[in-house]
Amino acid sequence: MSRPVVASLDLQALRHNLSVVRRAAPGSRVWSVVKANAYGHGIDRIWSALKETDGFAMLNLEEAILLRERGWKGPVLMLEGFFQAEDLALFDKYRLTTTVHSNWQIKALQNARLHAPLDVYVKVNSGMNRLGFTPQRLHTAWQQLRALPNVGDMTLMSHFADAEKPDGIREAMVQIEQAAEGLGCPRSLSNSAATLWHPEAHFDWVRPGIVLYGASPSGQWQDIANSGLKPVMTLSSEIIGIQNLKPGDTVGYGRLYRATQEQRIGIVACGYADGYPRIAPDNTPVLVDGVRTGTVGRVSMDMLAVDLTPCPQAGIGTPVELWGNEIKIDDVASCCGTVGYELMCALAPRVPVVTV
Ligand SMILES: *Cc1c(COP(=O)(O)O)cnc(C)c1O
Repeated sequence: MSRPVVASLDLQALRHNLSVVRRAAPGSRVWSVVKANAYGHGIDRIWSALKETDGFAMLNLEEAILLRERGWKGPVLMLEGFFQAEDLALFDKYRLTTTVHSNWQIKALQNARLHAPLDVYVKVNSGMNRLGFTPQRLHTAWQQLRALPNVGDMTLMSHFADAEKPDGIREAMVQIEQAAEGLGCPRSLSNSAATLWHPEAHFDWVRPGIVLYGASPSGQWQDIANSGLKPVMTLSSEIIGIQNLKPGDTVGYGRLYRATQEQRIGIVACGYADGYPRIAPDNTPVLVDGVRTGTVGRVSMDMLAVDLTPCPQAGIGTPVELWGNEIKIDDVASCCGTVGYELMCALAPRVPVVTV
């Protein structure tokens, strides 16, 4: 018998979440963001459930080539562009849309020998201060690119630092509009948060990632609880051991948890080497036999412990949901001081994945 930990992916939920995005941004085309191996879900497993999308966005050449080899003929956007000039041969061969965010990339495009022009997303820095031309520099960069025979369709792109806040994009929008004045260009600005909450930023193409996988861009499930989005990934396992604690007994490494009364706990086959966060504090939510309870003690590499007080019927072999439909990944993440994004992306390679 194999170890019971498993991640199951609900492809129907993924398809459904794309339709939620379409309803939220009916006038825009959709780049489905599948970077980081589709946020840990596995690009190869999930891409065909998203094939109603208008394009896929990512940043690894290997992932883009995989999609082409699987037969995706639609647009592919490389969110960080090419990392060195030599990559342009592959962008040319596989017909990838490239982001351009730096002067050296303009030079490289000028000097490249391509079979056909590449479509370009020109990135303007609207306050995130990661990638992109300053708003002042944008016009010049745009004109330089527009003059190159190697450049095809051009779109203005930016990325919001704070779109999960009600007032979070206002300053960035001012920057973008000033930069774009007179260009009359198509735009792609919106991540998941702006796709859900800032229709004024939708424009021609939206770029949702996290919502496709059914988690919240704000890290708080209640922010998307009424959106119709459904979790795609369920991480589940089983109880493989039972301990009956007496008052004063402790659990796990560091003896961090101490029972104050008689208590039955279950040992679950899932630990940080499976991607469950080691930092999870006592009482991080978990579902045992359909009943909500919490973790006790420190998460170890291969196991964690759960309180069985609310579910006395549980025993060896009882199913446990670490996150999924009932236990939202956002809730586990917020107990751990992080966001669902990080937990999804950290799903460990040793966890078997099944699609349903
Ligand atoms: C990751 C990313 C997105 C998607 O962000 P979500 O918050 O997951 O929707 C969109 N655009 C860019 C440039 C990104 O890097």
